[in-house]
Amino acid sequence: MRREMRAVLMGPPSAGKGTQAVRLAAEFGVPHISTGDMFRAAIAAGAELGRRAQGFIEAGKLVPDDVTLGIVCERLAEADAMSGFILDGFPRTVPQAEGLEDILRAQGVRLDAVVLIEVPEDVLVRRVTGRRVCEKCGRVYHMEWNPPPGSACECGGLVTQRKDDFPETVKERLATYRTQTEPLRDYYASEGSLVVVDGTGDPDEVFRRITRALGRCGS
Ligand code: ADP
Ligand code: ADP
Repeated sequence: MRREMRAVLMGPPSAGKGTQAVRLAAEFGVPHISTGDMFRAAIAAGAELGRRAQGFIEAGKLVPDDVTLGIVCERLAEADAMSGFILDGFPRTVPQAEGLEDILRAQGVRLDAVVLIEVPEDVLVRRVTGRRVCEKCGRVYHMEWNPPPGSACECGGLVTQRKDDFPETVKERLATYRTQTEPLRDYYASEGSLVVVDGTGDPDEVFRRITRALGRCGS
């Protein structure tokens, strides 16, 4: 498979974007860029970006577009992103998608594909309820299907539940997704770069579906 790949992974909270993005980044040899991970790292580090983002994240709302676009613009200018990237959880609004288009146009490149991972709501709820994350390395586990080896991560870090994975915030995040992110489906469908992939089944099965779909996307 060709190594250059510029793809976006979209989908509701806990659809499996991060799980698949890690695998796709390894498959194509490009960086995995997750705005959620970048915000969490900034919060953990006590950085200014974290202070600006934290309230929105904990309320299940989106971080404002100008802040989000700013960090993505900087990240995509780094050397390792020149031969491609797997964007995970960005863009999440139409203005973010327009901003991304401007960044890529300035670099003289374009997206190869936007992959929308579709998962029914009952499955999303089971995935989000069981999700646990290592506070040190960010590795993602699931209490039912992929539990950490002991009470800690393989790296020794503490494995905990994300605060925004508590039920009340999840409800808000799903509502935010429906109103602000779902319109991107039409945006990218009309551009011709959208592929919709069934996100149910085990991670290997979903990965095969995505790589098959990407194989059909252009050169
Ligand atoms: P999930 O993968 O469960 O959908 P993420 O880790 O991608 O969650 O994001 C966690 C939170 O970080 C979001 O609920 C939102 O508050 C914020 N966030 C992440 N990406 C974006 C984005 N592109 N625009 C605005 N806010 C974002
Ligand atoms: P997102 O980045 O879209 O929020 P994650 O990749 O973090 O989603 O997945 C959410 C939770 O569901 C995690 O606990 C992950 O281990 C689990 N998970 C992801 N994909 C699958 C799958 N295909 N089958 C079962 N569990 C999954």
